[in-house]
Amino acid sequence: MPARAIFFDFDDTLHDFTGSFRHAFAAGATAVCPGVGPAGTDQLREACREPWDELWQAFVTGGLDEDALWAGRAREVLERCGRAAEPELIQLFRDHYTRAMLGNLRLFPDASGALELARGAKPVPILAILTNGPRSVQRQRLQHLGLDRLTSFQLISGELGVAKPQRAYFARALELAAVPARDAVMIGDNPATDIAGARDTGLHAVWLNRAGLPWPGPGEPPPEAPSVLAAVRWALDTV
Ligand SMILES: [Mg+2]
Repeated sequence: MPARAIFFDFDDTLHDFTGSFRHAFAAGATAVCPGVGPAGTDQLREACREPWDELWQAFVTGGLDEDALWAGRAREVLERCGRAAEPELIQLFRDHYTRAMLGNLRLFPDASGALELARGAKPVPILAILTNGPRSVQRQRLQHLGLDRLTSFQLISGELGVAKPQRAYFARALELAAVPARDAVMIGDNPATDIAGARDTGLHAVWLNRAGLPWPGPGEPPPEAPSVLAAVRWALDTV
C-alpha cells in the first residue's frame, strides 16, 4: 500500500539551501563590510560557521527569538570586519541577506517532478513540509516557491515551538495529517533531525543522499535515495 502521508524536509531537500546561503551571506557581508570581496566573504563565512551554528541551535531550542538571532549573526560578521554592531548595520545585513536569499531560491530540478508524481498518485497521499527555522523566513520562502499551494500543510518549528528531531514535532505532523506513523514517510537530507527524529517516532524515513555518502548514523542505515523523485517512488511503492 502506498504511503498515506509523505513529509518533506525543505532546506537542501526540496531546494538548494547551501547554494542560496552562500549567495545570501555574500550579499549581507558585502553590504556591511565594504571592500570585503569574494575571497573575503568566503573566509568570513567559514569563520562565522561555528558561532552561527550555535546561534541557530539556541534559536531552534527557544533560547533566542528571531530578532536576537539576526543581531547575533550580524554581530559575528561585523566584529570580524572591524565594525561596531550598530542597530542600523544589523538591519542592513539582515535586509540584504534575506533579499538575496529570496531572489536566489530555486527548487531542485527533481523536486518539482517528485511533487507532481506524489500529487498524481491514487489515492493521493497527504503531502507536507516539515522544516526547522524562523516562522516568517521559512513561510516567505515556502510561498515564494509555491510550496504552500502544493502541500496540505507546512510545519515550521519557529511557529510550533518544538523542532525536528523532537518526537512532539513529528507527533504534531501525524496529527495534522490524521495518519498513523506506520503510514507516513519522512524524506530528508539530515540524518539526525530528519531521519533519526522520524524513526524515533515510528515513521518510515528515506535518507536523501545526493552525494552518495556513507550513512553516518545514528542507528542502522535507513533506505536511501539519490533524488527526491526516487524517494517519492520508494514511498509510493514500498510502504
Ligand atoms: Mg535539510
